[in-house]
Amino acid sequence: MGADIIDGKAFAERLRARVAEAVPAFAAAAGRPPGLAVVLVGEDPASQVYVRSKGKATRAAGMESFEHRLPDTVSEAELIALVEALNRDPRVDGILVQLPLPAAIDDKAVIAAIDPAKDVDGFHVANAGRLAVGEEALVPCTPLGCLMLLKDRLGDLSGLEAVVIGRSNIVGKPMAQLLLGENATVTIAHSRTRDLPAVVRRADIVVAAVGRPEMVKGDWLRPGAVVIDVGINRVDGKLVGDVDFAGACETASAITPVPGGVGPMTIAVLLRNTLVAGATRLGLPAPEGV
Ligand code: NDP
Repeated sequence: MGADIIDGKAFAERLRARVAEAVPAFAAAAGRPPGLAVVLVGEDPASQVYVRSKGKATRAAGMESFEHRLPDTVSEAELIALVEALNRDPRVDGILVQLPLPAAIDDKAVIAAIDPAKDVDGFHVANAGRLAVGEEALVPCTPLGCLMLLKDRLGDLSGLEAVVIGRSNIVGKPMAQLLLGENATVTIAHSRTRDLPAVVRRADIVVAAVGRPEMVKGDWLRPGAVVIDVGINRVDGKLVGDVDFAGACETASAITPVPGGVGPMTIAVLLRNTLVAGATRLGLPAPEGV
């Protein structure tokens, strides 16, 4: 067990504290606290847990939380009408529509309805495009959290070999864009990649965002690699990542645990994005320390 454990939980707590410290300056300038609206459709138990903890964290940071719960019988038009009302609401700086949505609703149409300036999940094509061309953007929370952990551990990422496993719009693709923005040499691997272990073995940085329990083995890693495990998989009632943690600890220099690694970063970055979105939209100075 040689690898250092990257304590995402502790990093996330510090980030949340810095966000909370920056809230009074925003409130003084805006005449109100930053506000985050979270929309939950249906009764998915995991989504309910996420929404509850997002609301709690928002209030703990001194922000206002607006929670909208809709039955899974809601129509796409009704959901879009709610999003448009939130776009117009001056108290709302960030809008998050909890995914997945019921099958009858087109999540692309709903995301497209969100004002990109309030798109704190960073899923709107305007924000994805800005990230891709290297402009200021609201960036998806999970990959931005991963980047923060990597920079905290490694400092300058310039010239490092990074392999991102997974190419979803939520994690893999924005993660690769962020690493490219830091001048890493980036490879994106996916289900059609040939000889994944050989690809992974090149990497100084491995980000696993696959959704397959313990798929990445310790002997795939280059000795000294830094491993970020985004995966959240429930196996026999226990949470495990996409990386074989015990095996990776033999080879990696540092690794995020599951739970307690990337997971807590996602909510902390959501609060950070809400504060930044509000300040940007109102033309206020960029919040300090976040
Ligand atoms: P998706 O299912 O959208 O994407 C998974 C990706 O993994 C796809 O690009 C897929 O390739 C690739 N993949 C699947 N099987 C293999 C394989 N055998 N070899 C190589 N690549 C493979 O998942 P997400 O990106 O949404 O999430 C990934 C994981 O991260 C999940 O466990 C999820 O629960 C977790 N997660 C955690 C968060 C957190 O806060 N910590 C937030 C978001 C997600 P292809 O495109 O070819 O199908």
